[in-house]
Amino acid sequence: MTKKIKIGTTEIGGGSPVKIQSMTNVPTSDTERVIAQINALAEAGCDIVRFSVPDEQSAKAVEAIKSRSTVPLVADIHFDYRLALMCIERGIDKVRINPGNIGGENNAAAVAKAARAAGVPIRIGVNGGSLEKGLLEKCGDLPRAMVESAKRHVEILNKFDFDDIVLSLKASSVKTTVEAYRLASETFPYPLHLGVTEAGTTEQGIVKSAVGIGSLLLDGIGDTIRVSLTDDPLREAWAAKLILRSLDMGGDYVEVVSCPTCARTKIDLIPIAEKINEAVSGIDKKLKVAVMGCVVNGPGEAADADVGIAGGDGCAVLFKHGKIIKKIGEAEIIPCLLSEIKKMTDNK
Ligand code: SF4
Repeated sequence: MTKKIKIGTTEIGGGSPVKIQSMTNVPTSDTERVIAQINALAEAGCDIVRFSVPDEQSAKAVEAIKSRSTVPLVADIHFDYRLALMCIERGIDKVRINPGNIGGENNAAAVAKAARAAGVPIRIGVNGGSLEKGLLEKCGDLPRAMVESAKRHVEILNKFDFDDIVLSLKASSVKTTVEAYRLASETFPYPLHLGVTEAGTTEQGIVKSAVGIGSLLLDGIGDTIRVSLTDDPLREAWAAKLILRSLDMGGDYVEVVSCPTCARTKIDLIPIAEKINEAVSGIDKKLKVAVMGCVVNGPGEAADADVGIAGGDGCAVLFKHGKIIKKIGEAEIIPCLLSEIKKMTDNK
């Protein structure tokens, strides 16, 4: 089990539930927009939100952002240790910085000292695309080189008596990412923040992230996750939530299973499944709902669903736990199923 680390009001690692992270994409110095985006992300299911701090103006905004955020915040800093110190002074909950490339050990010592005094953990973020020179040749392959790079950064923090560390080892290749994290989980006691970096635009990014993050979570590896998409960060939160839910790690929700349709389907099933899915998306009660194309296979195949419909010819049957309850007209399918779902979730 990984070390438990406190990030503001939440905890990661040590068996805590896996947390969802995303990142804002508006200028951090534009506090109103950042705050609006952070709180929208929190509303969408993010447990922790990160933002870049590329300059002093952004670091100075931390206090105002923090005072109005509903979730713990992470400052992402590259190279400039003074920005890390400014963020820590202003109440940031976690800093992402790599101590090996902030201008020498004195700077790393200063950050470690300030972070320790403030109880702020540090994430070391290794990226497969920007490793130290010569490391790849020395280690032989990218996953090993990434872990070696993480080790060097960790050793610097440990040297200054700092141990509240979170690690990430992201690459744009799913295979490399998974191998690097597997190796890291055998090497370090620290919580791991999972992600496939530069995963791409929406569809490709979600598939790559789901395969990479999902494989690791199934191995019991990973304490926080981020789905990186070239898209609205709200989509990242949505995709991360779906990944966790698909692994039964995302809390209670109404799961809609639906068949792929085939030549036996005689009703317009696709929009029905979409509408039911949409209608139940905000209900945090545990229920399984089936939307199936035919009576021949539907009720039987979805026998483990609490409630469902199976299409006939211009009609459908309503079934519960595989048992047919009644026949309904095609136009009644959505209202009837939604009213059953409402009854069943109201009682939970
Ligand atoms: S449930 Fe029926 S309609 Fe749907 S895929 Fe299976 S056989 Fe085809």
